[in-house]
Amino acid sequence: MNTIYFEALTPENIARAADIIRAGGLLGIPTETVYGLGANALDEKAVLHIFEAKGRPQDNPLIIHVPDASWLERYCESVPEAAYRLAERFWPGPLTMILPRKPIVPLRTTGGLETVGVRCPDHPVTLAVIRKADVPIAAPSGNTSGRPSPTCMEDMREDMDGKIDAIFDGGPCRVGVESTIIDLTCTPPRLLRPGGLPLEMLEDVLGEVAVDKAVVSLLKDGEKPKAPGMKYRHYAPKAPVTVFTGDPEKSARYIEAHLPASAGVICFSEFTGLYPGHIVHDLGSFTDKAEQARRVFDALREFDHEAVTEIYAQCPDASGLGLAIGNRLKKAAGFHIVEV
Ligand code: AMP
Ligand code: MG
Repeated sequence: MNTIYFEALTPENIARAADIIRAGGLLGIPTETVYGLGANALDEKAVLHIFEAKGRPQDNPLIIHVPDASWLERYCESVPEAAYRLAERFWPGPLTMILPRKPIVPLRTTGGLETVGVRCPDHPVTLAVIRKADVPIAAPSGNTSGRPSPTCMEDMREDMDGKIDAIFDGGPCRVGVESTIIDLTCTPPRLLRPGGLPLEMLEDVLGEVAVDKAVVSLLKDGEKPKAPGMKYRHYAPKAPVTVFTGDPEKSARYIEAHLPASAGVICFSEFTGLYPGHIVHDLGSFTDKAEQARRVFDALREFDHEAVTEIYAQCPDASGLGLAIGNRLKKAAGFHIVEV
């Protein structure tokens, strides 16, 4: 297949991209979080092609993308008032809500679940394509299953060129980690995935929020995850990763003292000079978590083009965006963590 690349946000390109969606095709879509691999969420056959292109297990549900909160009742049953409060405050933005699905949303899209994840992305290209197509777009991240998520058009090209109909270039992603996922079908609401919207901001609106165990630790064999996607290996570069938590100065020194000769490093900007002779990726200053979020997937992805036998990574504390950044690093490491 010859993949088309749309570059400018013009009415013609939006119309062509929307036609691809309506015709059951696959479209790489830019969002503020990461690039997505999109198809008409209501078209089972189109959705099946998403799973095939990514090599994604069929029971790992997709998020459906809508242009505003008025579409919630088209696709969700008994929408609680809290969903509208969250949408009012955080949409468009990096927040996915889990709600009961209406039958119009195929089980193929929800990975067989009676619930559906819904999000309104904050990107003019994707909002325009959804409105023009007049159907919700189902889209997981646009990477091959198991690889780090794409945060620019080039990353998406690397994984999907020749496999999908088109990719729309919307520039580099402003947030860089996927959406925060909150399950509103239980009491209290449950955080299933930390992401671009900090937990503290959700708590501000919802009060108590439960944090799913899979967010902070590896599930044991036989333990059933609340979200099926949680059981799969994620974000992993080819070389094994070890994550070092604790005070940044201390973990940087610890890595310096223990780093194997052929290992690469992901560290905060302040410490890049400590590891001469090693391949080092700069995660951004330890005072700037927004920058760390934008860089984390790129840092992991780059190592696939470089000769390292393993990767040592520094990790921010869990406040604000740190929970999401740390979660992506720890998942990449299979929760292989050293507390310094
Ligand atoms: P991705 O965008 O590639 O990270 O994939 C979408 C994520 O959303 C997966 O990890 C799913 O587990 C999660 N998700 C989507 N729909 C649901 C749902 N109905 N219930 C729980 N998790 C969901
Ligand atoms: Mg993904």
